Amino acid sequence: MTSPPFASTPPSVADFLQDVGGRGLDDALIEMIWHHPQGISRAQIAKEGSLARSTVSDAVARILDTDLVEEAGDAPSQGGRRPTLLRFRDEARWILGADLGATHVAVALTDLRGRILDFHEGACDVRNDPDAACAMLLEFCERALAARSGARMPIIGLGVAMPSPVSPTHPTLFPSSILPAWEGHMGLQAVADTLGLPLFVENDANAGALAELWWGRLQDLGHLTFVKLGTGIGAGHIIAGELYRGAAGAAGELGHVSIDPDGPPCLCGNRGCATTFIGTPALLRRTRDRLQAGQDSALTAESVTLDRLIDAALEADPVAVAVLEEAAEHLGTVLAGLLNLMNPRAVILGGTLTRAGSRLLDPVRRAVETRTLIDSVTNAQIELSDLGAENVALGAATTVLSHALTRPTHSLLQTVEF
Ligand SMILES: [Zn+2]
Repeated sequence: MTSPPFASTPPSVADFLQDVGGRGLDDALIEMIWHHPQGISRAQIAKEGSLARSTVSDAVARILDTDLVEEAGDAPSQGGRRPTLLRFRDEARWILGADLGATHVAVALTDLRGRILDFHEGACDVRNDPDAACAMLLEFCERALAARSGARMPIIGLGVAMPSPVSPTHPTLFPSSILPAWEGHMGLQAVADTLGLPLFVENDANAGALAELWWGRLQDLGHLTFVKLGTGIGAGHIIAGELYRGAAGAAGELGHVSIDPDGPPCLCGNRGCATTFIGTPALLRRTRDRLQAGQDSALTAESVTLDRLIDAALEADPVAVAVLEEAAEHLGTVLAGLLNLMNPRAVILGGTLTRAGSRLLDPVRRAVETRTLIDSVTNAQIELSDLGAENVALGAATTVLSHALTRPTHSLLQTVEF
């Protein structure tokens, strides 16, 4: 997998060209040009990559025959003729990235620079109804493509983020304890086959972490943890600029860290997992308990949803604020453990609950501060994602992009026309 585009430390030309590895020079050049979005000249490539000018000219001539790279303007003159810049055409191909949460399906259509061109989202019982989830996935993919029918670009792949650990060797077989209805279900592959696209499956929190690493404002930190707050809780770890998946793809299952051995039963078979305190069903249950106990609120037990709970918290409703503060307290316990264990520079919170903004973030920060003493840990930033509700779908598309950039002449030039 290729490196992410660190804004402050772009990888050097020499790094790319000395590490041609099993691929060709053209692959290395295309990827390197992608990493120079402002453009790069043939002379700079030859000089910094210690290559003969004729070697670079020949390779660039081949690359310009594709539609992936173009000549775009002139670089400032170093004395003499101004060299022509080469630029990667981000718009030359598109990617479909899907976020299958426990209760929703979202699909983003992106270009090759993480720009979202179209986005569709709907409620769906993904965990229990894989047929409906796959039907909605296909429908949204087709809708995204239809919306752009005037300027259709070839699509290079379908990335799907799943609310489950994803095995590196069997990415479409999910653990039956987490997604029992998906056991033996080959719907994701069928959707990809219908679209004629290669399929890439990733855990949802890992996809979110990848999106933060490639496109988020804290990407330069290189050591960060993305925590997805939804029906369940998951984490994706970026360690030294790389996504860490663990031995069997199950790293970051933060939601199944037990915080109370005598707590409520969890679907994993354990008791008192973080999910049973912070997951959406737990928040709604706690809200109803308070309402039924007669606490003062504009909410009603019969009609409370996560959206209504968040809206109420934003309007300082006492029950909603108390429920979020309780959740923040539990999340703080889990995050303090995470900080001690992983020492990330930042923890980025994403998922539906983050719409509560400072009503969530402030008590989480306070809860973490009271539980962490070591300076390196207390210095970690805790922030809300700035990539919004599209974060995980964007990360799923980024999974496809990161693979494609390692062998662009293979992945980007043999693509499906719609
Ligand atoms: Zn559990």
